[in-house]
Amino acid sequence: MLALKGKVALVTGGTSGIGRGCIERLASEGASIIFNGIQNKNESVDSIRKSIHDKYKTDIFYHSSDLTKLGEIEELFEKSLKRFSKIDILVNNAGITLNSPTIDQMPLTDLNFMINLNLMAPIHTCRLVIPIMLKNNWGRIINISSVMGLVGGKGSSGYNATKHGLIGLTKGLALELGDKNITVNAICPGSVSTPMLEMVAKYHAKQQNSELSDDLHKKFMEAKCVTKKFIEPEEVANLVAFLCGKHTQNITGASYAIDGGYLAH
Ligand code: NAD
Repeated sequence: MLALKGKVALVTGGTSGIGRGCIERLASEGASIIFNGIQNKNESVDSIRKSIHDKYKTDIFYHSSDLTKLGEIEELFEKSLKRFSKIDILVNNAGITLNSPTIDQMPLTDLNFMINLNLMAPIHTCRLVIPIMLKNNWGRIINISSVMGLVGGKGSSGYNATKHGLIGLTKGLALELGDKNITVNAICPGSVSTPMLEMVAKYHAKQQNSELSDDLHKKFMEAKCVTKKFIEPEEVANLVAFLCGKHTQNITGASYAIDGGYLAH
């Protein structure tokens, strides 16, 4: 019997990177999938849907909501509930990283966008999902934070604020929902091979007045991962699936780093 058969999972930002890994992994455990996100140029939404449905015979639903807009988040929930009538698992994954040497140098519109997507959107999705989970007396909420939610990073103070905020949200909600069979945890990835990581590596190369050569890429990786290997989205997705599994009712309010040893420094 598949561990998540009969469960419905909403993964934000499921069109790329870690989110894409999560929908694959949760579907492989039998969950029905709801995802959103911007169309990825390497894999269309239709081919994601078809590939997941063909492989796992699971129901999969996409809605293209811009999560920086509350109205579109509400619409995502309305349409999802029409389709499945419940949501058991919420993975708050969609996010961006915008860097600047110091926070005062980041245009306010960029900063607001990042705060809205990385922190306000998970707050809104939690507000919408809690009554649904309470009704079913079961729920798993997983917030994809970052190692930058546990330590600071030069050029990352705005991003740090959003990702630390997500850990605060995780802890508070875990206490509020502790006796309701709803667990809330955060995952704090280090450097995961996704388009986002490529952007961050390019930013750091630019700060050194260089192009992102293979050599610089390797140095960047070695500075970030003691293991000297970038993390793959599937590794994060495995942890997500584990936290949604049957024997995890006492794991709540925790933040799990999966960081190639970065925080051991
Ligand atoms: P990615 O760029 O590959 O994917 C981001 C996803 O978010 C995409 O599906 C994109 O369409 C979606 N998205 C972006 N803007 C959106 C919007 N306005 N509305 C709705 N969806 C939107 O990035 P990723 O590396 O897979 O990152 C996923 C999460 O993991 C992010 O929250 C990120 O902060 C976190 N994270 C990533 C890394 C890393 O090294 N890649 C490290 C730590 C944490």
